[in-house]
Amino acid sequence: MVGEKFGKWTVIKLTKMNKTKELGCLCKCECGALHIIAKRSLKQKTSTQCNACSHKKLRIQRIKHGMGRTKTYKSWQTMKQKCKNKNDHLYYLYGERDITFCKDWLKFENFYKDMGDQPEKTKLCRVDKKDDFDLSNCYWSPKVMSKEIYGPHSSHVKEPPLIRRLSHWRMH
Ligand SMILES: [Zn+2]
Repeated sequence: MVGEKFGKWTVIKLTKMNKTKELGCLCKCECGALHIIAKRSLKQKTSTQCNACSHKKLRIQRIKHGMGRTKTYKSWQTMKQKCKNKNDHLYYLYGERDITFCKDWLKFENFYKDMGDQPEKTKLCRVDKKDDFDLSNCYWSPKVMSKEIYGPHSSHVKEPPLIRRLSHWRMH
């Protein structure tokens, strides 16, 4: 049994469970965490990885499934289509001009981690329009400079407020 693998667990040595005294195994998860797992749970595959690992997986799944219909997800998809899909109606402005996005953003999780939730009434914009989509070049830009932002009696025209972190802006 020692050295055997059960899911992400590798059995280090046989032991007894602290509380119940039933047969247990000291196991090492792929992430390096050590735990004593009941032999029964290993055989029945009720335990295949440490808690941290199973939570991590759940969290990613939740993001993937839960975000599928959100604005943020759609913006990410639109960005990918414009850059990579020759049949996209905007491909000629992006993909054809060698505009692409950073490799990390191939995964929605990474895009979401970098950009966060898309605020209301914004769209994904680039600071430098000749440059690619990546964290340093992208921000959520207000769609309209209108009374909704400046109020109905605003007379002066200003630059739209910057929503993304300023530290990530490259000023040219
Ligand atoms: Zn683990």
